[in-house]
Amino acid sequence: MVMNMRLVFIGPPGVGKGTYAKMISGKYGIPHISTGDIFREEIAKESELGLKVKYYVERGLLVPDDIVIEIVKNVLERPECRRGFILDGFPRTVKQAEELDKITVLDAVLLFEAPLHVIIERVSGRLVCPNCGAIYNVSWKPPRKPGICDVCGSTLIRRKDDEPEVIKARYEVYRQTFTPVIEYYRNKKILIEVYAGREAQEVVTEVEKILRERKIIKNEHIISKH
Ligand code: AMP
Repeated sequence: MVMNMRLVFIGPPGVGKGTYAKMISGKYGIPHISTGDIFREEIAKESELGLKVKYYVERGLLVPDDIVIEIVKNVLERPECRRGFILDGFPRTVKQAEELDKITVLDAVLLFEAPLHVIIERVSGRLVCPNCGAIYNVSWKPPRKPGICDVCGSTLIRRKDDEPEVIKARYEVYRQTFTPVIEYYRNKKILIEVYAGREAQEVVTEVEKILRERKIIKNEHIISKH
């Protein structure tokens, strides 16, 4: 079976791309690779890499290209990525995009967009599980027990970089750095824009429809959960 679901998800912080990536990754059995999640895990473990990137991540600044590229290269070489993958949060610079082109051939780059007020509401209520990565929102997707992860029972946290001051910095960085990356993929004609100011399942259904039309998703990609 030929699989060709090599995807990149782009969008401002809080647009929900991590949620969409998890949903599609689960349904089609392709890994969701979030460079932000990798960094947060390494910081929590206080590993050598974690200590290197902590300064940048906690301030919403970009981690230097060489560090990020090395990590992504290693991850994409893993056997589970041969069937496809969803990159979330990478590439963030044209240099990263160019390096990615040397490693693999992308099938599509999805750009998620939503009005600012929707994004602010999502980010301000977001809680994440530091252990399994599950994402909640106090207003529209609360955990069953307040502050406790439904999946693994760990205590949920607010990401340090979801604090309002850091969010503003991340927005600024997003606007400044992503415009050239978006243009890069638009020129390559693999950019697909998706309106994300609606319920997550609707967004995902729209993504699937587009990927089917482009023959990137085929029926055999779906993984039966039963
Ligand atoms: P995210 O969860 O994708 O918003 O990433 C959180 C933080 O991790 C960012 O604010 C950056 O400090 C760092 N980061 C994640 N991905 C990258 C990347 N591709 N290039 C540089 N820094 C990154």
